[in-house]
Amino acid sequence: MSTFYRLSGSDDDAAADIVKSWKRKLWRTRDESGDIVEQVAMDPPGLAITCAECGQLREGTRSVNVPLVKVEIRSALHWPGFSGIGLIRRDLIETLGWDLVTEHLFLGNVVDEDGRAFSDFETYVGRYSNTIRGTGNPKLRACPSCGRRVYFAVGRPFLSRAELTDVPISTDGRSLILREDVMARLRKEDWDFDVEALTVETSMPDGFPERLADAVPAAWKDPESP
Ligand SMILES: [Zn+2]
Repeated sequence: MSTFYRLSGSDDDAAADIVKSWKRKLWRTRDESGDIVEQVAMDPPGLAITCAECGQLREGTRSVNVPLVKVEIRSALHWPGFSGIGLIRRDLIETLGWDLVTEHLFLGNVVDEDGRAFSDFETYVGRYSNTIRGTGNPKLRACPSCGRRVYFAVGRPFLSRAELTDVPISTDGRSLILREDVMARLRKEDWDFDVEALTVETSMPDGFPERLADAVPAAWKDPESP
């Protein structure tokens, strides 16, 4: 079984500014086949791409164009809040390989107020997801609005073998998860993000079932508080 790695993006002031910059500006559009493809338009509000209650991206959201205004971002990776949308710098994509990245992530543009692409970042939404579980203070709740589950834990991070999506690049809605063969393409000292190894477990140190879908969620509470 492979080892996986969590790449944690910058948690600096820029990340907070990004949230302020794009909050409530994200809406979705659909192409002729009905797939949600991208967004920036400012209306109608009923088509917001994130759930108002839990903040997770709506099902089917693909490439997202994010409007950023006067925010200076430097780190190669950012995950602002619980948006499910990340920012990745193009030199990191280059190092991982464009083909591999676009096979596993939906990329979009960072745009100015007029919708023009700028900056050396792409936005990304994962095509494949994994839940990073943790040994400390684990919580599982079901969102009263969209019904999806929100898991939160601290402590040593791990993946459950039973629910593992074994692909080279996946996301957990907050961070990027690389399989060891892809991680080998990066020299850690060249990058400014934190890297943590994720073991793949068969007995669950968080006390939940191997598959979180088999667990009964607790009462709802704001996902940003443990
Ligand atoms: Zn929700």
